[in-house]
Formats: sequence, C-alpha cells, structure tokens
Amino acid sequence: MRSNFLIKILIPALILCSLAACAPRTVIRILPPEIKLRVSKQEMEPGHVLRVNADSPDCQLTLIAQAWGQTTRLLPVSNEPTCYEGFLGVPLDTLPGPGTVTINAFSHQGQKIRTINIAIQVLPRQPFKTVRLSIRGFGKYDFATESARMAAVRKQAGTGAGPRLTPFIWPVKGRITEIFGVKRIYNQGMKSWFHGGIDIAVLGGTPIIVPADGCVVLAEPFTAHGNSVLIDHGYGVITTYLHLRKLLVRNGEMVKRGGIIGEVGTTGSSTGNHLHFQINVNGIKVDPYDFLESLKKTP
Ligand SMILES: [Zn+2]
Repeated sequence: MRSNFLIKILIPALILCSLAACAPRTVIRILPPEIKLRVSKQEMEPGHVLRVNADSPDCQLTLIAQAWGQTTRLLPVSNEPTCYEGFLGVPLDTLPGPGTVTINAFSHQGQKIRTINIAIQVLPRQPFKTVRLSIRGFGKYDFATESARMAAVRKQAGTGAGPRLTPFIWPVKGRITEIFGVKRIYNQGMKSWFHGGIDIAVLGGTPIIVPADGCVVLAEPFTAHGNSVLIDHGYGVITTYLHLRKLLVRNGEMVKRGGIIGEVGTTGSSTGNHLHFQINVNGIKVDPYDFLESLKKTP
C-alpha cells in the first residue's frame, strides 16, 4: 500500500519538480509606455510662454513639469486621449542663460517611471521703455485692494483640463497702444508698476470675443480697474479684461470660444476706449501678443 503511494504520487511529483527546475525561466517585463515630448520653443525671452505637449498610448499617466519656480501638470486634452498639454511662463525677472524644463512621469499607481529634461535657452530681454501717465483723480483709486482680490481669484482657479486651448482668438482686433512689460509711472511718481497686459485701442462698444473655452471666475464693476472679467481656461491659464463699458457675463458662467463677454469701454482709471487684455500662466504674467502669435500653430 505504502510503496503504491510512492509510485503513484511522490515519484511523478519529484519528476515534475526536477523538470520545472531545469526549464528556462520566462520573465515578463512590463516596459514603461513610450512618451514623446514636444515644446513650442527652445529659445525664449522672459515674459514669454512655453507650451509642452506629450503623446503617450497610456492615457492614465501623471506628468508633472517643473521650471522657473512653477510646478504644473500636463493635462489630457479632451477628445485626444493620447495627448497631454501644459504651459509654463518665463517670469520677467529671469536672467538670461541655459534653463531646464524637467518632466516627471508617474504611472497610474503613482510609481515614477521616467524623468525627461529639456534644455531651454532664456534670451536677454529687450529693454522696455518707461511711460509717464497722468490720470485725473488718480489718488482716489484703491488699486491694491482690487488687485489683491483678482490675485486671490486667480490663485484658486486655473487647474482644470478641457479641449485644446491654442490657438487663441484675439478678443478684439485693433492697434496695440501699449505693449506688455512697459514700466508705467503715474502722476509724477505717485505710483509705478510694469504693464502686465497689452492695451488694444478700439471703439467703445466693440464686442469682446472669448479667445478659448473657459469659465468666468470674476465679472465685477471695480472702481480703479473698471468693469472687469476673468476667465479660467484650465491648464493654469487665466485671461483678464479691464475697463469694459458693459459686462455681458456673470460669475460662474461657462463661455465658448467666439462668444461675447462684454463691450470695450473706458471705465475706471483709463484715458480712453481700449481693452486691457492680460494672460496669467500658473500665476505668472506673460505677454499676450507672444501667447497668441507664437502658439498659432497647433502642435
Ligand atoms: Zn493696460
């Protein structure tokens, strides 16, 4: 009985075990997904914006880009499941020289799978002019309180994803009467700051067009900045429109590219009908002209 058991069960088991030990081992190696990165520029001036795109068959990646003191996530572009997009602004006080954009890729389990560095050369900034302005009743305006309110709204917004943002449509078409970055000195030095947007002179009442889909995060009649609108486009990008004659949107309203948010005016501290148009990327003010013109080409 006992020898029968040895023959029937133990011996075949021993043979199988020894065969398994001799068989070549099959190792299944899971390779990290391929990630292709593209940037809109490799040389840029302070105040300019960089678009970073990543393509990967894995649509559950977390891609974190870091440069110039910003940490931003490349977000999936809706309806393009293999494409991620993000933006980085070069602050105006960045010194010229070689820079690096670092992208860390994490799997959906949170495991770091790759680090990719991209070299970007920051070029010397063209010197900006100083402009002296005189505005009647300038002392009565409380710029600081209004600016702090807008900064707080920008800080809370700007992290969502959506359809592809660029190219932006110009909100109005007209003569640029003041470029980005100019140092402005008001009323014999009562106040001075750099111009954080561009001024476009057009007739009062001209409709202001939404440059890309987004959500209105502020629509208020301010005293110094005039009737103001802020739109959160996601991807860390927020646009600002000041001195409107008429507000045609409300806070919390979703707006579509090509829609109308208001009319050009000269409300608040302003010397004539114009649109002050500003773009913040991860809180950094960037040149709207560069944003609209250098990102015209779809990546
Ligand atoms: Zn302005």
